[in-house]
Amino acid sequence: MICAYCEQEAKGTKEHIISCAILDIFPECFATIDNLRGKIHLGDPMVKDVCANCNNNRISYIDSSAKSIVSDYFVQKYEKDDILDFTYDYTLLQKMLLKYAFNDLRSRKDDTYFFTQNILDFLMNKNIVDPLRNVTVLVGLAVNTSPAPDYMFGNNKIRWGKNPAFLSNSIIEHINYETGEIRHRSENPRQEFKKMSFSYIFRFNSGQFLLICWDDDISDDDLKTNNVILQCQYPYTILSSQGHHTLSRCTSETTYHFEMLIDVSWGQGIFDDVTWMRGTYTDKSQQDLKEIARRWQKEEEDLAKRFPR
Ligand SMILES: [Zn+2]
Repeated sequence: MICAYCEQEAKGTKEHIISCAILDIFPECFATIDNLRGKIHLGDPMVKDVCANCNNNRISYIDSSAKSIVSDYFVQKYEKDDILDFTYDYTLLQKMLLKYAFNDLRSRKDDTYFFTQNILDFLMNKNIVDPLRNVTVLVGLAVNTSPAPDYMFGNNKIRWGKNPAFLSNSIIEHINYETGEIRHRSENPRQEFKKMSFSYIFRFNSGQFLLICWDDDISDDDLKTNNVILQCQYPYTILSSQGHHTLSRCTSETTYHFEMLIDVSWGQGIFDDVTWMRGTYTDKSQQDLKEIARRWQKEEEDLAKRFPR
């Protein structure tokens, strides 16, 4: 086997697609739900093409920082209007998401042309502390504002996927506030971005990250234009080497359950109106939903005990 990182001939070792340290935080999510292959299995998602030296010595520093990001900020659930003060190391965050995307692409035998020697050096070298110019990271809080409890769609607190749909306009075109009738937009092409190589979405319980990889030769102007569209059009916060931002909710009652759909900010607002019209946010229904969540949490505690890691 040729190691995916150092490109030397060696015996392959098992590398978790998402760090084991993160999976360990959520033992109650014991099954891997693979929608792409239409399979559910009990093992962790892995690839087996990394040599022992790269796996244990060269790229493992990324896992410990990944664990602290998730355990410090995203184990807890947030409410609809919560704002989170988020302090982070931007370069390490880029490395973490790039590593997971690279693992996932290899596990699917997908194209990895983006991962040039330069990018591999960036991942393997702990001492490289400057972020990559052609990688953008956005983040928001995933908050369930729908009347459907989490477990209805499977207990998958950790989810990821390649090339989520960045919509160019709202999913709902019109609401009649008198009758409550809603009309979906019949045509809603994906937003075009210049020189986008690929993108990924990652959900770690209440934290939802977007990784966008731009072609290496993207001009500063195109990069700026793309980032302005991302910032203005979507309910996510763009991260930077500044290392500190406030995060707010990036999901609606629909996109919470379908993370591959990136609705525009005003689309999320329209869904919030639908949620409000349905009465899901009355005190009574909030109380009921909290009671369901409390009981489910107890079930999760039992699951975590039954499926120790
Ligand atoms: Zn290696």
